[in-house]
Amino acid sequence: LLIKIREITDGGLELALPLGRDLLRDALVGLDGDLDRSHADAKLSVTKSDDDDVFISGKITGEVMVPCVRCLTEVKTKVEVPLRMVFTPVGEEADEKDDSDVEHGTHDGHQIDLGETLREALILSVPMNPICSPTCKGLCPVCGGDRNKTSCGCQVATLEDPRLAPLKGLKL
Ligand SMILES: [Zn+2]
Ligand SMILES: [Zn+2]
Repeated sequence: LLIKIREITDGGLELALPLGRDLLRDALVGLDGDLDRSHADAKLSVTKSDDDDVFISGKITGEVMVPCVRCLTEVKTKVEVPLRMVFTPVGEEADEKDDSDVEHGTHDGHQIDLGETLREALILSVPMNPICSPTCKGLCPVCGGDRNKTSCGCQVATLEDPRLAPLKGLKL
């Protein structure tokens, strides 16, 4: 995921970069996602000014397959992250007046490595607690059945959080 500064032509570059398994694995860590059926691509426009400031705009789009945290059904989750970045040559003062939704970086005059930037953007775009539906009822804590599909009729002993029980005796 390297961009060579001298390959950025006057008209700019249009790039379509598939984000590989390694990046997806990092983004899905802890979520038990299905790597084989998840994918993401970065589509970027790259332009450069006369003094080698490099402007990158575009977005990451994709789909990740992750289990619902309540019922474990696989959920296809769309990923879409807009990207706006400017990379200035190392040693040159970044212009602090720029609007804050543009991410700043530096480059060494030869190339820009977008790997880390894209990895972070992808990680932030994946939901921490994916659910199949806001109304998902989850699994029955007694029999483990999917309560979206069947009402098993189990008597769930208490819906109260046992940690809150000591508070019941309090008079407020
Ligand atoms: Zn669910
Ligand atoms: Zn049950």
